Amino acid sequence: MWLELDILVKGGIILTMDERDSIFHPGDLWVKDGKILSIRKSSEENLPVEAKKIIDAKGCLVLPGLINSHTHLPMVLLRGYSDDLPLKEWLFDRIFPAEAQLMNPRSVYWATLWGCVELIKSGITCVMDGYFFEEEVAAALSRAGIRGVLGQGVLDYPTPDTPEPEENLKRAREFVEETLNRYPLITPSIFCHSPLTVKKETIVKAKELCSEYGIPLQMHVSETEEEFRQILYQEGLTPVSYLDSLGVLDPEFVSVHLVHITDGDLQTLSQRGVRVVHCPESNMKLSSGVARVHEMLQRGLVVGIGTDSVCSNNNMDLFREIDMATKLQKAVFGDATLLNARDGLRMGTSLGATTVGMGDRIGSLSEGKEADFIVVDLDRPHLFPIYDPYSLCVYSLKGSDVRDVIISGRVIMENKRVLTIDVEEARAKVGEIVRNIRTDWFHLEGEG
Ligand SMILES: [Zn+2]
Repeated sequence: MWLELDILVKGGIILTMDERDSIFHPGDLWVKDGKILSIRKSSEENLPVEAKKIIDAKGCLVLPGLINSHTHLPMVLLRGYSDDLPLKEWLFDRIFPAEAQLMNPRSVYWATLWGCVELIKSGITCVMDGYFFEEEVAAALSRAGIRGVLGQGVLDYPTPDTPEPEENLKRAREFVEETLNRYPLITPSIFCHSPLTVKKETIVKAKELCSEYGIPLQMHVSETEEEFRQILYQEGLTPVSYLDSLGVLDPEFVSVHLVHITDGDLQTLSQRGVRVVHCPESNMKLSSGVARVHEMLQRGLVVGIGTDSVCSNNNMDLFREIDMATKLQKAVFGDATLLNARDGLRMGTSLGATTVGMGDRIGSLSEGKEADFIVVDLDRPHLFPIYDPYSLCVYSLKGSDVRDVIISGRVIMENKRVLTIDVEEARAKVGEIVRNIRTDWFHLEGEG
Protein backbone atom coordinates (compact mmCIF):
# COMPACT_ATOMS: atom_id res chain seq x y z
CA MET A 1 0.00 0.00 0.00
CA TRP A 2 1.48 3.33 -1.07
CA LEU A 3 0.81 6.37 1.04
CA GLU A 4 0.02 9.50 -0.95
CA LEU A 5 1.20 12.73 0.64
CA ASP A 6 0.14 16.21 -0.39
CA ILE A 7 3.65 17.60 0.05
CA LEU A 8 7.00 15.93 0.66
CA VAL A 9 9.82 18.26 1.71
CA LYS A 10 13.11 16.47 1.08
CA GLY A 11 16.58 16.80 2.46
CA GLY A 12 16.59 20.10 4.38
CA ILE A 13 17.96 21.09 7.78
CA ILE A 14 14.71 20.95 9.76
CA LEU A 15 14.73 23.20 12.82
CA THR A 16 11.57 22.09 14.59
CA MET A 17 11.48 24.55 17.54
CA ASP A 18 9.71 21.78 19.49
CA GLU A 19 10.12 21.27 23.25
CA ARG A 20 13.22 19.11 22.80
CA ASP A 21 14.77 21.47 20.22
CA SER A 22 14.91 18.57 17.75
CA ILE A 23 16.86 19.13 14.56
CA PHE A 24 16.74 16.75 11.59
CA HIS A 25 19.74 17.05 9.29
CA PRO A 26 19.08 16.11 6.60
CA GLY A 27 15.39 15.60 7.23
CA ASP A 28 12.12 15.02 5.39
CA LEU A 29 8.77 16.53 6.26
CA TRP A 30 5.52 14.85 5.24
CA VAL A 31 2.33 16.85 4.80
CA LYS A 32 -1.17 15.49 4.42
CA ASP A 33 -4.57 17.23 4.74
CA GLY A 34 -2.98 20.50 5.87
CA LYS A 35 -1.12 18.87 8.76
CA ILE A 36 2.34 17.49 9.46
CA LEU A 37 2.09 13.72 9.19
CA SER A 38 5.74 12.95 9.95
CA ILE A 39 9.19 14.46 10.34
CA ARG A 40 12.10 12.07 9.97
CA LYS A 41 15.73 11.79 9.05
CA SER A 42 16.12 11.49 5.28
CA SER A 43 16.77 7.92 4.28
CA GLU A 44 18.11 6.27 1.18
CA GLU A 45 15.75 3.30 1.38
CA ASN A 46 12.66 3.37 -0.81
CA LEU A 47 9.69 4.12 1.44
CA PRO A 48 6.20 3.32 0.17
CA VAL A 49 5.21 6.99 -0.23
CA GLU A 50 4.50 9.25 -3.12
CA ALA A 51 3.60 12.91 -3.08
CA LYS A 52 1.51 15.25 -5.19
CA LYS A 53 4.23 17.83 -4.69
CA ILE A 54 7.90 17.46 -3.82
CA ILE A 55 9.86 20.41 -2.43
CA ASP A 56 13.61 19.88 -2.77
CA ALA A 57 15.08 21.42 0.39
CA LYS A 58 18.69 20.30 -0.10
CA GLY A 59 20.96 23.14 1.04
CA CYS A 60 17.96 24.80 2.69
CA LEU A 61 16.71 25.44 6.19
CA VAL A 62 13.13 24.44 7.03
CA LEU A 63 11.56 26.13 10.04
CA PRO A 64 8.14 26.97 11.46
CA GLY A 65 6.44 29.96 9.85
CA LEU A 66 7.10 33.12 11.84
CA ILE A 67 4.38 34.64 13.99
CA ASN A 68 4.12 38.42 14.05
CA SER A 69 2.17 38.94 17.29
CA HIS A 70 1.35 42.63 16.85
CA THR A 71 0.45 44.48 13.64
CA HIS A 72 -1.90 47.14 12.31
CA LEU A 73 -1.77 45.93 8.72
CA PRO A 74 -3.77 48.66 6.90
CA MET A 75 -1.27 51.26 8.14
CA VAL A 76 1.10 50.14 5.37
CA LEU A 77 -0.61 52.98 3.51
CA LEU A 78 1.26 55.39 5.80
CA ARG A 79 4.70 53.75 5.69
CA GLY A 80 7.24 56.56 6.04
CA TYR A 81 4.54 59.24 6.11
CA SER A 82 5.50 60.57 9.54
CA ASP A 83 8.78 59.73 11.20
CA ASP A 84 11.08 61.10 13.89
CA LEU A 85 8.38 62.49 16.22
CA PRO A 86 7.43 61.66 19.84
CA LEU A 87 4.48 59.26 20.18
CA LYS A 88 1.81 61.76 21.25
CA GLU A 89 2.52 64.30 18.52
CA TRP A 90 3.05 61.53 15.96
CA LEU A 91 -0.28 59.85 16.83
CA PHE A 92 -2.63 62.77 17.44
CA ASP A 93 -1.22 65.37 15.00
CA ARG A 94 -0.14 63.15 12.13
CA ILE A 95 -1.46 59.57 12.15
CA PHE A 96 -5.06 60.01 13.39
CA PRO A 97 -5.83 62.87 10.90
CA ALA A 98 -4.27 60.94 8.00
CA GLU A 99 -6.26 57.82 8.95
CA ALA A 100 -9.48 59.85 9.02
CA GLN A 101 -8.78 60.95 5.44
CA LEU A 102 -7.54 57.63 4.06
CA MET A 103 -9.21 54.71 5.73
CA ASN A 104 -12.40 53.20 4.34
CA PRO A 105 -13.37 49.58 3.62
CA ARG A 106 -11.80 49.59 0.16
CA SER A 107 -8.51 51.18 1.20
CA VAL A 108 -8.23 48.90 4.24
CA TYR A 109 -8.74 45.83 2.04
CA TRP A 110 -6.09 46.76 -0.54
CA ALA A 111 -3.64 48.04 2.06
CA THR A 112 -3.92 44.74 3.95
CA LEU A 113 -3.42 42.72 0.79
CA TRP A 114 -0.28 44.75 0.01
CA GLY A 115 0.85 44.16 3.62
CA CYS A 116 0.28 40.43 3.08
CA VAL A 117 2.77 40.46 0.20
CA GLU A 118 5.40 41.77 2.62
CA LEU A 119 4.41 39.21 5.30
CA ILE A 120 4.61 36.27 2.92
CA LYS A 121 7.88 37.38 1.35
CA SER A 122 9.52 37.53 4.77
CA GLY A 123 8.21 34.17 6.02
CA ILE A 124 5.40 35.30 8.33
CA THR A 125 2.54 32.79 8.33
CA CYS A 126 0.41 34.15 11.19
CA VAL A 127 -0.35 37.64 12.55
CA MET A 128 -2.21 39.12 15.47
CA ASP A 129 -3.69 42.39 14.23
CA GLY A 130 -5.84 45.21 15.54
CA TYR A 131 -7.44 47.95 13.44
CA PHE A 132 -10.63 49.45 12.03
CA PHE A 133 -12.84 47.89 9.32
CA GLU A 134 -11.25 44.66 10.56
CA GLU A 135 -13.70 42.57 8.48
CA GLU A 136 -11.82 43.86 5.42
CA VAL A 137 -8.53 42.80 7.02
CA ALA A 138 -10.09 39.33 7.50
CA ALA A 139 -11.19 39.19 3.84
CA ALA A 140 -7.75 40.23 2.56
CA LEU A 141 -5.86 37.84 4.85
CA SER A 142 -8.11 34.98 3.76
CA ARG A 143 -7.47 35.76 0.12
CA ALA A 144 -3.73 35.77 0.82
CA GLY A 145 -4.02 32.46 2.73
CA ILE A 146 -2.41 33.78 5.93
CA ARG A 147 -3.51 32.75 9.42
CA GLY A 148 -4.65 35.56 11.74
CA VAL A 149 -6.11 36.62 15.05
CA LEU A 150 -7.83 39.85 14.14
CA GLY A 151 -9.10 42.45 16.60
CA GLN A 152 -11.72 45.07 15.81
CA GLY A 153 -10.33 48.37 17.11
CA VAL A 154 -12.16 50.04 20.02
CA LEU A 155 -11.50 53.65 21.09
CA ASP A 156 -13.63 56.18 22.96
CA TYR A 157 -12.80 58.69 20.21
CA PRO A 158 -14.39 58.99 16.76
CA THR A 159 -12.58 56.53 14.44
CA PRO A 160 -12.73 55.88 10.67
CA ASP A 161 -15.30 53.07 11.07
CA THR A 162 -17.11 54.30 14.21
CA PRO A 163 -17.69 58.08 14.07
CA GLU A 164 -19.96 57.81 17.16
CA PRO A 165 -17.73 56.31 19.91
CA GLU A 166 -20.73 55.07 21.92
CA GLU A 167 -21.33 52.56 19.08
CA ASN A 168 -17.81 51.05 19.44
CA LEU A 169 -18.77 47.85 21.27
CA LYS A 170 -21.82 47.27 19.08
CA ARG A 171 -19.46 47.49 16.10
CA ALA A 172 -17.02 45.10 17.80
CA ARG A 173 -19.78 42.56 18.55
CA GLU A 174 -20.96 42.67 14.93
CA PHE A 175 -17.40 42.02 13.76
CA VAL A 176 -16.97 39.06 16.11
CA GLU A 177 -20.31 37.51 15.13
CA GLU A 178 -19.68 37.99 11.41
CA THR A 179 -16.13 36.63 11.49
CA LEU A 180 -16.48 33.72 13.91
CA ASN A 181 -16.40 30.49 11.87
CA ARG A 182 -16.52 32.38 8.55
CA TYR A 183 -12.90 31.86 7.46
CA PRO A 184 -10.95 28.70 8.33
CA LEU A 185 -7.71 30.58 9.16
CA ILE A 186 -9.16 33.59 11.01
CA THR A 187 -9.97 33.97 14.73
CA PRO A 188 -11.76 37.19 15.76
CA SER A 189 -10.64 39.29 18.72
CA ILE A 190 -11.12 42.78 20.14
CA PHE A 191 -8.39 45.38 20.28
CA CYS A 192 -8.86 48.09 22.92
CA HIS A 193 -6.39 50.78 21.88
CA SER A 194 -4.89 51.83 25.26
CA PRO A 195 -5.80 52.76 28.84
CA LEU A 196 -5.60 56.43 27.81
CA THR A 197 -7.91 56.22 24.80
CA VAL A 198 -10.48 53.71 26.10
CA LYS A 199 -12.67 54.39 29.16
CA LYS A 200 -12.88 52.13 32.18
CA GLU A 201 -16.46 50.96 31.43
CA THR A 202 -15.58 50.22 27.80
CA ILE A 203 -12.56 48.10 28.79
CA VAL A 204 -14.68 46.07 31.22
CA LYS A 205 -17.49 45.54 28.67
CA ALA A 206 -15.00 44.64 25.91
CA LYS A 207 -13.54 41.99 28.21
CA GLU A 208 -17.03 40.63 28.96
CA LEU A 209 -17.70 40.42 25.23
CA CYS A 210 -14.42 38.53 24.69
CA SER A 211 -15.23 36.10 27.52
CA GLU A 212 -18.67 35.48 26.01
CA TYR A 213 -17.04 34.25 22.79
CA GLY A 214 -13.85 32.79 24.32
CA ILE A 215 -11.61 35.13 22.31
CA PRO A 216 -8.58 37.23 23.32
CA LEU A 217 -8.62 40.92 24.24
CA GLN A 218 -5.59 42.86 22.96
CA MET A 219 -4.40 46.20 24.31
CA HIS A 220 -1.36 48.51 24.21
CA VAL A 221 -0.31 48.81 27.87
CA SER A 222 2.40 50.89 29.58
CA GLU A 223 3.88 51.91 26.26
CA THR A 224 5.23 55.33 27.29
CA GLU A 225 6.33 57.02 30.47
CA GLU A 226 3.66 59.65 29.86
CA GLU A 227 0.93 56.97 29.87
CA PHE A 228 2.37 55.52 33.07
CA ARG A 229 2.38 58.93 34.78
CA GLN A 230 -1.06 59.94 33.56
CA ILE A 231 -2.79 56.74 34.72
CA LEU A 232 -0.95 57.02 38.02
CA TYR A 233 -2.24 60.61 38.34
CA GLN A 234 -5.83 59.77 37.31
CA GLU A 235 -6.27 56.44 39.08
CA GLY A 236 -3.54 56.35 41.71
CA LEU A 237 -2.39 53.08 40.14
CA THR A 238 0.12 51.93 37.50
CA PRO A 239 -1.49 50.99 34.16
CA VAL A 240 -1.04 47.27 34.97
CA SER A 241 -2.52 47.55 38.49
CA TYR A 242 -5.32 49.75 37.10
CA LEU A 243 -6.27 47.04 34.58
CA ASP A 244 -5.97 44.43 37.32
CA SER A 245 -8.37 46.46 39.48
CA LEU A 246 -10.88 46.24 36.59
CA GLY A 247 -10.57 42.44 36.68
CA VAL A 248 -9.56 42.12 33.03
CA LEU A 249 -6.10 40.55 33.39
CA ASP A 250 -6.02 36.82 32.70
CA PRO A 251 -4.42 34.41 30.18
CA GLU A 252 -6.83 35.66 27.49
CA PHE A 253 -5.48 39.21 27.86
CA VAL A 254 -2.75 40.15 25.36
CA SER A 255 -0.72 43.04 26.63
CA VAL A 256 1.38 44.86 24.03
CA HIS A 257 4.57 46.82 24.88
CA LEU A 258 4.78 46.88 28.74
CA VAL A 259 7.81 49.15 28.56
CA HIS A 260 7.19 51.06 31.80
CA ILE A 261 6.42 48.60 34.57
CA THR A 262 7.31 48.18 38.23
CA ASP A 263 8.48 45.00 39.97
CA GLY A 264 4.96 44.75 41.42
CA ASP A 265 3.49 44.93 37.89
CA LEU A 266 5.77 42.10 36.80
CA GLN A 267 4.49 39.98 39.68
CA THR A 268 0.85 40.81 38.84
CA LEU A 269 1.38 39.92 35.17
CA SER A 270 2.91 36.54 36.15
CA GLN A 271 0.16 35.78 38.67
CA ARG A 272 -2.58 36.51 36.14
CA GLY A 273 -0.78 34.62 33.33
CA VAL A 274 -1.13 37.59 30.98
CA ARG A 275 0.33 37.14 27.49
CA VAL A 276 2.85 39.76 26.37
CA VAL A 277 3.96 41.15 23.02
CA HIS A 278 7.34 42.85 22.72
CA CYS A 279 7.77 45.41 19.90
CA PRO A 280 11.38 46.60 20.21
CA GLU A 281 11.77 48.60 17.01
CA SER A 282 8.54 50.54 17.51
CA ASN A 283 9.56 51.28 21.10
CA MET A 284 12.94 52.50 19.90
CA LYS A 285 11.60 54.62 17.06
CA LEU A 286 8.99 56.38 19.20
CA SER A 287 11.53 56.71 21.99
CA SER A 288 9.24 54.80 24.36
CA GLY A 289 12.03 52.82 26.05
CA VAL A 290 13.04 49.16 26.34
CA ALA A 291 10.88 46.46 27.93
CA ARG A 292 12.42 44.11 30.55
CA VAL A 293 11.89 41.10 28.33
CA HIS A 294 14.60 38.89 29.84
CA GLU A 295 12.97 39.26 33.27
CA MET A 296 9.54 38.47 31.84
CA LEU A 297 10.89 35.27 30.28
CA GLN A 298 12.71 34.34 33.50
CA ARG A 299 9.39 34.60 35.31
CA GLY A 300 7.79 32.25 32.81
CA LEU A 301 5.62 34.84 31.09
CA VAL A 302 4.61 34.04 27.53
CA VAL A 303 6.25 36.71 25.35
CA GLY A 304 5.75 36.96 21.61
CA ILE A 305 7.28 39.50 19.29
CA GLY A 306 5.62 42.00 16.96
CA THR A 307 6.67 44.63 14.48
CA ASP A 308 3.76 46.95 15.35
CA SER A 309 2.55 49.06 12.41
CA VAL A 310 4.99 49.95 9.66
CA CYS A 311 4.49 53.62 10.62
CA SER A 312 6.56 53.05 13.74
CA ASN A 313 9.07 50.55 12.33
CA ASN A 314 8.91 50.86 9.07
CA ASN A 315 8.89 47.23 7.91
CA MET A 316 7.48 43.86 9.00
CA ASP A 317 10.67 41.77 8.75
CA LEU A 318 10.40 39.64 11.88
CA PHE A 319 13.93 38.21 11.54
CA ARG A 320 15.20 41.77 11.84
CA GLU A 321 12.90 42.39 14.81
CA ILE A 322 14.14 39.29 16.68
CA ASP A 323 17.76 40.27 16.00
CA MET A 324 17.06 43.73 17.42
CA ALA A 325 15.23 42.33 20.46
CA THR A 326 18.14 40.12 21.52
CA LYS A 327 20.81 42.80 21.01
CA LEU A 328 18.77 45.48 22.75
CA GLN A 329 18.51 43.45 25.97
CA LYS A 330 22.28 42.96 25.95
CA ALA A 331 23.05 46.62 25.19
CA VAL A 332 20.65 48.20 27.66
CA PHE A 333 20.98 45.78 30.58
CA GLY A 334 24.77 45.35 30.24
CA ASP A 335 24.96 41.56 29.92
CA ALA A 336 25.80 39.78 26.64
CA THR A 337 24.24 36.52 27.88
CA LEU A 338 20.71 37.97 28.09
CA LEU A 339 18.12 36.78 25.56
CA ASN A 340 20.18 34.34 23.50
CA ALA A 341 19.45 33.51 19.87
CA ARG A 342 17.41 30.40 20.70
CA ASP A 343 15.09 32.28 23.06
CA GLY A 344 14.80 35.10 20.53
CA LEU A 345 13.70 32.68 17.81
CA ARG A 346 11.22 31.07 20.22
CA MET A 347 9.54 34.46 20.62
CA GLY A 348 8.95 34.51 16.88
CA THR A 349 7.79 30.87 16.67
CA SER A 350 6.70 28.60 19.56
CA LEU A 351 6.18 31.33 22.18
CA GLY A 352 4.57 33.53 19.53
CA ALA A 353 2.08 30.73 18.85
CA THR A 354 1.07 30.63 22.52
CA THR A 355 0.88 34.43 22.55
CA VAL A 356 -1.70 34.42 19.76
CA GLY A 357 -3.56 31.51 21.42
CA MET A 358 -2.53 28.70 19.06
CA GLY A 359 0.35 27.03 20.90
CA ASP A 360 -1.18 23.59 20.40
CA ARG A 361 -1.54 24.03 16.64
CA ILE A 362 1.33 26.09 15.22
CA GLY A 363 4.74 27.58 16.15
CA SER A 364 6.78 24.36 16.00
CA LEU A 365 7.12 21.45 13.60
CA SER A 366 5.82 18.20 15.03
CA GLU A 367 3.46 15.45 14.00
CA GLY A 368 -0.19 16.49 14.08
CA LYS A 369 0.47 20.21 13.98
CA GLU A 370 -0.66 22.48 11.16
CA ALA A 371 1.68 22.48 8.18
CA ASP A 372 2.81 26.13 8.52
CA PHE A 373 6.49 26.30 7.57
CA ILE A 374 9.05 28.15 5.51
CA VAL A 375 12.05 27.12 3.44
CA VAL A 376 15.16 29.31 3.36
CA ASP A 377 17.80 28.91 0.69
CA LEU A 378 21.17 28.94 2.45
CA ASP A 379 23.20 29.57 -0.69
CA ARG A 380 23.98 33.17 0.29
CA PRO A 381 27.31 34.73 1.32
CA HIS A 382 25.93 35.91 4.68
CA LEU A 383 24.56 32.45 5.53
CA PHE A 384 27.80 30.43 5.45
CA PRO A 385 29.51 28.83 7.34
CA ILE A 386 27.00 27.50 9.87
CA TYR A 387 27.99 26.60 13.43
CA ASP A 388 24.69 27.19 15.21
CA PRO A 389 21.38 27.24 13.33
CA TYR A 390 19.72 29.50 15.94
CA SER A 391 22.49 32.09 15.60
CA LEU A 392 22.16 31.80 11.85
CA CYS A 393 18.41 32.55 12.00
CA VAL A 394 18.64 35.42 14.46
CA TYR A 395 21.87 37.20 13.61
CA SER A 396 22.34 36.52 9.88
CA LEU A 397 19.02 35.71 8.20
CA LYS A 398 16.87 38.35 6.55
CA GLY A 399 13.23 38.06 5.56
CA SER A 400 14.24 38.32 1.92
CA ASP A 401 16.17 35.02 2.22
CA VAL A 402 12.89 33.06 2.50
CA ARG A 403 12.24 30.98 -0.64
CA ASP A 404 9.00 29.05 -0.01
CA VAL A 405 6.05 29.57 2.34
CA ILE A 406 3.47 26.91 3.19
CA ILE A 407 0.43 27.63 5.36
CA SER A 408 -2.05 24.93 6.38
CA GLY A 409 -0.48 22.64 3.78
CA ARG A 410 -1.02 25.13 0.95
CA VAL A 411 1.92 26.54 -1.00
CA ILE A 412 1.60 30.33 -0.66
CA MET A 413 5.02 31.28 -2.07
CA GLU A 414 7.24 29.15 -4.29
CA ASN A 415 10.73 30.21 -5.37
CA LYS A 416 10.00 33.71 -4.04
CA ARG A 417 6.84 34.05 -6.17
CA VAL A 418 3.65 34.79 -4.22
CA LEU A 419 0.95 32.52 -5.63
CA THR A 420 -2.17 33.81 -3.86
CA ILE A 421 -2.02 37.55 -4.62
CA ASP A 422 -1.78 39.51 -7.86
CA VAL A 423 1.14 41.58 -6.55
CA GLU A 424 1.10 44.17 -9.35
CA GLU A 425 -2.62 44.74 -8.92
CA ALA A 426 -2.26 45.27 -5.15
CA ARG A 427 0.62 47.69 -5.67
CA ALA A 428 -1.33 49.69 -8.27
CA LYS A 429 -4.40 49.93 -5.99
CA VAL A 430 -2.28 51.18 -3.08
CA GLY A 431 -0.59 53.72 -5.36
CA GLU A 432 -4.02 54.99 -6.42
CA ILE A 433 -5.24 55.26 -2.81
CA VAL A 434 -2.25 57.26 -1.52
CA ARG A 435 -2.01 59.54 -4.57
CA ASN A 436 -3.51 62.53 -2.77
CA ILE A 437 -1.57 62.16 0.44
CA ARG A 438 1.93 62.36 -1.00
CA THR A 439 4.36 64.78 0.58
CA ASP A 440 5.78 68.03 -0.81
CA TRP A 441 8.97 66.16 -1.58
CA PHE A 442 7.15 63.75 -3.88
CA HIS A 443 5.35 66.49 -5.80
CA LEU A 444 8.58 68.40 -6.29
CA GLU A 445 10.31 65.22 -7.40
CA GLY A 446 7.38 64.22 -9.63
CA GLU A 447 7.22 67.63 -11.32
CA GLY A 448 10.96 67.82 -11.82
ZN1 LIG B 1 0.43 48.84 18.11
